[in-house]
Amino acid sequence: MVSTFLNPHPVDSSRIRPSIQALQPQLVEWRRHLHQRPELGFQEQLTAEFVSQKLQAWGIEHQTGIAKTGIVATIEGTKPHSETSEKRKVLAIRADMDALPIQEANEVPYRSQHDGVMHACGHDGHTAIALTTAYYLSQHRDTFAGTVKIIFQPAEEGPGGAKPMIEAGVLQHPQVDAIIGLHLWNNLPLGTVGVRTGALMAAVELFRCTILGKGGHGAMPHQTVDSIVVAAQIVTALQTIVARNVDPIESAVVTVGKLQAGTAHNVIADTAQMSGTVRYFNPAFQGYFGKRIEQMIAGICQSHGASYELDYWHLYPPVINDAKIADLVRSVASDIVETPAGLVPECQTMGGEDMSFFLQAVPGCYFFLGSANPEKDLAYPHHHPRFDFDETALGMGVEMFVRCVERFCC
Ligand SMILES: [Zn+2]
Ligand SMILES: [Zn+2]
Repeated sequence: MVSTFLNPHPVDSSRIRPSIQALQPQLVEWRRHLHQRPELGFQEQLTAEFVSQKLQAWGIEHQTGIAKTGIVATIEGTKPHSETSEKRKVLAIRADMDALPIQEANEVPYRSQHDGVMHACGHDGHTAIALTTAYYLSQHRDTFAGTVKIIFQPAEEGPGGAKPMIEAGVLQHPQVDAIIGLHLWNNLPLGTVGVRTGALMAAVELFRCTILGKGGHGAMPHQTVDSIVVAAQIVTALQTIVARNVDPIESAVVTVGKLQAGTAHNVIADTAQMSGTVRYFNPAFQGYFGKRIEQMIAGICQSHGASYELDYWHLYPPVINDAKIADLVRSVASDIVETPAGLVPECQTMGGEDMSFFLQAVPGCYFFLGSANPEKDLAYPHHHPRFDFDETALGMGVEMFVRCVERFCC
C-alpha cells in the first residue's frame, strides 16, 4: 500500500499535514539519534536527557526523573474553550522509550552503537513521534483548548514503567481525562492504522515451577520419584486448561517455554524446572489461570509423591480500549488513511503492553500504526535482530496525535 502521508487525500484541506511534513527530516534525525543509543528499561539516561534538552529548548514545562527515567511534559492550549464542552479537557499521550537486549544485525548507518542492546520494537520511533508532537503543539497552542500531557515512559519491555509512573501521580495535577498511545506495527503495512474498541492486546502472566522428586539409578526407578515423568505429565495437563476449561469463544494461551531436567542418560533426575507464560483478553480471567495451574501441578505431584515450588506473576493486565476514545481515534484515522481498507478494525494480538495500566486508570485508546514496507525490506517482526520500520510512518503518527488533540481538547 502507498502511504497516504506521501499522497495527501484530495479532500484534505487541513494545514496540519504540510506543517508536519516539514518536520519529517527532524523526525528521522531524532529517531536515528535514539536508535544509535538504545538503553534497557530504567536505564534510559541518554534518552531522557535528549528528550529533556529538547523540551527545555522549546520552553516546554516538564518534570524529569519520574519512576527513575520517565518524563512528563505539559502543554497548555490557548484556544478559547468551546461553549459545548463542560470543562477544559486534559489529554495524555504516552510513549515508551526503552530498548531490548538484542544485538542488532542491520547494516545501516544509524545502527546501534551499544553492544548487545537494540531498539528492536520501535520505541525509538515512539519517542521521536511524541517529542515532535510536543514541539508541534508548543508551536500551535492556539489550535487546542485544555492541556496535553506527554508521558515518556521507561521499561515497557519489563519490568514495566507505566505502573510506577501512575503511582508517582502522572495522571493527576491536572487530572487526565483520557489517554492515547500508539505502537509502530510491522504486522500492518505502512499507511494503515489498527484501531479496536475493547481488548487490543492480551494480559501477560508468567510462572516458574520446580518439581521436587527423588533421584536415583536409571535402572532402579522404583527407588525414586522421577521428576521428568512428573514434569512431562504437568506439561501435557496444562494444555487442557485452554482446551477443556476455557469457553471456546474466549481466547487464551498457556505456553511452557522452558523445561530443564537431568544430567545423564542413566540417572533419574531429582528435580525438573519449567517456566511459561499465560495470555488472555478477558479481564474476568485474572486470577483464574494461576489457580488452575497450581491445582494441576499439586494434583499431579501428589499422585506421584513429588512436591513443588511455584512462583506466579501477573505482569500486565489486558489492553482494553474505551469505546468513546476508540471512536475518536478511529474518526481521526479515517481522515488520514487513503482508502477505507487503511483502517484495520480487527487487529488483536496476544502480545502484551503495560499501556494497560494507564487504560485501567483512565479511559483511553491504544492503536497500531502500520510501519512495514516489504519493498524496502522493512518487514521483519518486532524483537528480531533485523527489525526496522518505514520512517514515513513517523509523520503519520504525529498527525494522528495532533488531530486527536484538536478533536478532544476543543
Ligand atoms: Zn516489544
Ligand atoms: Zn513495543
